[in-house]
Amino acid sequence: MSLDLKDKTCIITGSASGIGKAIAKRYVAGGAKVAIADLKLEDAQSTADELNAQGPGSAMAVKMDVTDEDQVNAGVKAVAEKWGTIDVLVSNAGIQIVHPVEDFPFKDWKKLLSIHLDGGFLTSKAVIPYMKKQGAGSIIFMGSVHSKEASALKSAYVTAKHGLLGLARVISKEGGKYGVRSNVICPGFVKTPLVEKQIPEQAKDLGISEEEVVNDVMLGGTVDTEFTTVEDVAEVAYIFAAFPTNALTGQSLVVSHGWYMN
Ligand code: NAD
Repeated sequence: MSLDLKDKTCIITGSASGIGKAIAKRYVAGGAKVAIADLKLEDAQSTADELNAQGPGSAMAVKMDVTDEDQVNAGVKAVAEKWGTIDVLVSNAGIQIVHPVEDFPFKDWKKLLSIHLDGGFLTSKAVIPYMKKQGAGSIIFMGSVHSKEASALKSAYVTAKHGLLGLARVISKEGGKYGVRSNVICPGFVKTPLVEKQIPEQAKDLGISEEEVVNDVMLGGTVDTEFTTVEDVAEVAYIFAAFPTNALTGQSLVVSHGWYMN
């Protein structure tokens, strides 16, 4: 069995930056055609330009707010029109907002849940018809160790990331007879803009130093006090995308330097 993504058509949301960008890079290195779907079109375009220069695969930029049904449908349609079909979706766009529950602004709770959960639902809903029609497809959700664990201040994020496990499992059951697979990647802390932003915020909320946030709160539970890297996560995303059978569906894989073990 070979794990091959050559000429496969992939949509990765939130891929102008961070983990999504690293996944796009890995897929293009494997010969895939990758749509960089992001809220920020300019950043998506510069990522696509960078990846087209890298090859051997190719990339296109798509403006997409994953919480907007019309933008999701239009973006998916544009990719299918350009490349003929959709083989892989990585639903990766996400944000983080931290507060204790009693101080959590309701509008921020709704915003976070919408990006992670509505985004996962709407993008899946839009790509599944293409995948069913061709009898194959892989949908990958970017979960987190917080799909399985909880941390103080992260009520909305932990709720959303737990929810994605349920969505992935339902899609894998509905997709089984059509060859549509669905899995979740659960990274530990990865140093991206999303995490850099949290370090001073958590230090303030918890009344500790930034060094303590990194070494105790973020990495205290790992086996080696190391951050997971974007490349680590991208390699797992490659396996889930390229694995050719339903043997690997409905699963969640933790990539976290042993922070969470199951
Ligand atoms: P990041 O901030 O570097 O990148 C997120 C990207 O999502 C950005 O390009 C942003 O423009 C885009 N985005 C935000 N809202 C969007 C929307 N409504 N529609 C479309 N795009 C939108 O973050 P990251 O760390 O690379 O996170 C990517 C995913 O990985 C998220 O789902 C996050 O929860 C998850 N994750 C991150 C870590 C970590 O430690 N960094 C750990 C576990 C899981």
